Amino acid sequence: TPALEAVDLARSYQLEGVSVDALRGVSLRIDQGEFVAIIGPSGSGKSTLMHLLGCLDRPTSGALRVNGTEISALTDTALASLRNRTIGFVFQSFHLLGRTSALDNVALPLVYRGVGKVERRARARRALEAVGLGHRLDHRPSQMSGGEQQRVAIARALVGEPSVLLADEPTGNLDTRNGDEVMAILDRLNADSGVAIVLVTHEPEVAAHARRQIHVRDGLIELDTANRQGASAG
Ligand code: ADP
Ligand code: ADP
Repeated sequence: TPALEAVDLARSYQLEGVSVDALRGVSLRIDQGEFVAIIGPSGSGKSTLMHLLGCLDRPTSGALRVNGTEISALTDTALASLRNRTIGFVFQSFHLLGRTSALDNVALPLVYRGVGKVERRARARRALEAVGLGHRLDHRPSQMSGGEQQRVAIARALVGEPSVLLADEPTGNLDTRNGDEVMAILDRLNADSGVAIVLVTHEPEVAAHARRQIHVRDGLIELDTANRQGASAG
């Protein structure tokens, strides 16, 4: 089963009586364990696509299957449950609780799933160790560098063992060194755990980490390197 399968996804927004077509019919399939970058200029529809793929928003038309489940028939509650079980999110601004320990930040998603305290802490510790922060469990994000904060956010996104990690400009608030470090961790997590990663970025150097690039322009896929069968350099 593909992790994500979109058929002719479209999304328009109503803005003061005017309709803005942010996505105009996007079809793509992302398999389990893939590492894909969605790249395109500002306003091209990347965030809209990411919100749809992450089930944070619903399409105006078109179909989306998440781990084989078509979402259009789901109630909002069922969609939220599917999202919580299958998708982890990382954003540009880390969205951590600044005064809560790294361990408790990472354990928080497990509270909502009814995981007991001892297991929550054990899993949060393992997730922090996986991003190289095993020595920072009791530190608060407000005491950490941006790169460390993003690694805590990655641990939080992965603690529930989702099928897909959606990362929206994860290096956008980081300097080059911290950005490279975060990308190296995403590379390794993808290789080791098999989580599919969908990375949204406008930076070509960041997109180059992914094995597949999907270029979005004016709400459409302009190029998907997965479709360049037999193409070779030069
Ligand atoms: P990107 O992430 O590539 O910058 P977006 O998906 O944010 O692109 O935006 C695509 C288009 O949709 C843009 O023209 C943007 O102005 C418009 N748009 C995005 N979100 C909204 C919204 N909530 N209401 C109205 N227009 C929106
Ligand atoms: P910013 O450009 O302010 O850094 P982010 O990259 O942090 O924005 O967030 C991108 C989008 O994701 C925004 O539209 C925001 O509302 C949404 N978002 C941020 N955090 C969450 C969250 N924890 N859950 C759902 N949506 C979120």
